[in-house]
Amino acid sequence: MSDLHPALLDRALGAYLGLAIGDALGATVEFMTPREIAANLGVHRDITGGGWLKLRAGQVTDDTTMSLALGDALVAHNGFDARAVADAFAGWLRGKPVDCGNACRRGIRRYLADGSLAGPYNEGDGGNGAAMRNLPVVIAALHDDAAFEAWTLAQARITHNHALSDAGTLGLGRIARRLLRGDGDAGLRAEADALVTRWPAFRHTPWPGRASGYVVDTVQTVLHHVLAIDDFEACLIAVVNCGDDADTTGALAGMLAGARCGAQALPTRWLNRLDAEVLRQIRAQTLGLLRIAGHG
Ligand code: MN
Ligand code: MN
Repeated sequence: MSDLHPALLDRALGAYLGLAIGDALGATVEFMTPREIAANLGVHRDITGGGWLKLRAGQVTDDTTMSLALGDALVAHNGFDARAVADAFAGWLRGKPVDCGNACRRGIRRYLADGSLAGPYNEGDGGNGAAMRNLPVVIAALHDDAAFEAWTLAQARITHNHALSDAGTLGLGRIARRLLRGDGDAGLRAEADALVTRWPAFRHTPWPGRASGYVVDTVQTVLHHVLAIDDFEACLIAVVNCGDDADTTGALAGMLAGARCGAQALPTRWLNRLDAEVLRQIRAQTLGLLRIAGHG
């Protein structure tokens, strides 16, 4: 389509690096309550590792590594191939990831057992596992609405078949696309409003205050904080200190806030802490995904 505009690259890198930062920052306090966080850590504001997964400082979890697996498959096939994505998820699981949600594990095992690219509708598939990893599709399909919708649903259905998972994954993806295109807070608010109009379950004003792995709780917590707090660092600190599924709310808030502010504005003390190999993969993959979108 066109040359790679430096501002677009900065926003795309901001989104992907923001995702990894939020994941690494939030993982320390995943499954803790806000009260436990306050009692043990005061305000959690540094990438220190630890947590229930006993991470190294700067280590990321499934939110980032599943995204990288999906993105690798997109780059390798110069676009979306559902079987290649399922194979990438299977390879990711074989690599013994540090964490893996129940629906993701069940879906990947189903694919390995029978080769099917989607499971049946499941009331238990309302988790955030499909939404947390969709950023590579958002970037690769930045200028193609139909591809964005089809690829999003296809990657999601490999592990999650639930109306609210679909709606939340599409909704967050649409917001991220607007931010990547440079539409800023106006685009963010318009798409957040559109999501709530279509799916009132995602109403986030007033914020119900839950930050669990249920996709509704996750989306409400992410949208509430990204809309209320413009500053990347302040936004992520507020989100992860809600605890519960803090690595995933952190990752998704980091994705949106990072797309809004761009990579140049990310806090260097957090960037410098991120696992160096993850940083390298994100930088290389973002270029490849933008190439699929028609840039560079
Ligand atoms: Mn995780
Ligand atoms: Mn999580």
